[in-house]
Amino acid sequence: MGAVVVDMGMEPDHPALEDAGRILRRARKAVAFTGAGISVESGIPDFRSPGGLWTVFAPEEYATIEAFLENPAKAWKLFRAIGGTIAGARPNQAHEALAALEAAGRLAGVITQNIDGLHQAAGSRRVVEVHGDHRRLQCLSCGRLAPMPEEVLRGDSVPACEACSAPQKPNVVLFGEAVRSLDEVEGLVSGCDALLVVGTSAQVYPAAGIPAAVKRGGGTVLEFNLEPTPLTEGDFQGFFRGGGPPCPVSDILFRGPAGTTVPAVARRALGTAKER
Ligand code: NAD
Ligand code: ZN
Repeated sequence: MGAVVVDMGMEPDHPALEDAGRILRRARKAVAFTGAGISVESGIPDFRSPGGLWTVFAPEEYATIEAFLENPAKAWKLFRAIGGTIAGARPNQAHEALAALEAAGRLAGVITQNIDGLHQAAGSRRVVEVHGDHRRLQCLSCGRLAPMPEEVLRGDSVPACEACSAPQKPNVVLFGEAVRSLDEVEGLVSGCDALLVVGTSAQVYPAAGIPAAVKRGGGTVLEFNLEPTPLTEGDFQGFFRGGGPPCPVSDILFRGPAGTTVPAVARRALGTAKER
């Protein structure tokens, strides 16, 4: 059976919104898993959509650890472009709705693939950044982390570590580097019975395997995206690894902009839907 797809533009009062609210109210441990799509309405484009950074900077050429080690100055063209999109961005209603759910005790935490810090800016307290952050510079030689000075983003040279002079990179996970904080992810996913998957194309592994892990553990997966993804359609890797046909991970897809769909579900979970 496929996921229920709710087109929020067509059916803003679809009964699945109430169902999702009830699922969150009754969940023992709800968690959010977010990707670039949650920040698009904050003015930070995602990478894969037309016009996204991957269409300008081929990831295999700019965003791998090998590319950085071989030619840091070239990789910094991408890092600066990312820094430029993040600078000055403010959290939107989707980030705020997740922070409100956590404050009300309805969400255990957020696992994010984003590097923009907008969950924290919205007031989320437990945020696991599996792909690192763009707030700091990282030295791969001595491990030192330093704040990212604004001049670095405006300039055109490669910053060097104060301790050992090696070229620094933003504290983000490049392709070919290990994903961060897997223990914390494990801690949040373990016992999770409701997962909100917001704005991720679910194509970057191993993070993309998180929804399947929740589903496998018997949890409900609520997806929020502009379009169906491999999670909606059963076209993903690594679920029934030992055999068996792939099947959808998402129970419901709320199709529409996250700034509309996530607050609509959160209001129902918090019982504030009628107050507006
Ligand atoms: P992605 O670009 O692969 O996919 C984004 C997904 O969001 C798509 O499925 C798209 O349909 C959906 N989307 C776009 N606008 C939306 C909206 N308004 N509401 C709901 N959904 C929307 O992003 P990803 O899956 O996060 O993977 C890309 C990688 O790039 C991540 O690892 C992340 O670290 C990095 N990235 C981060 C940022 C950021 O920090 N804001 C931005 C771009 C990319
Ligand atoms: Zn160093």
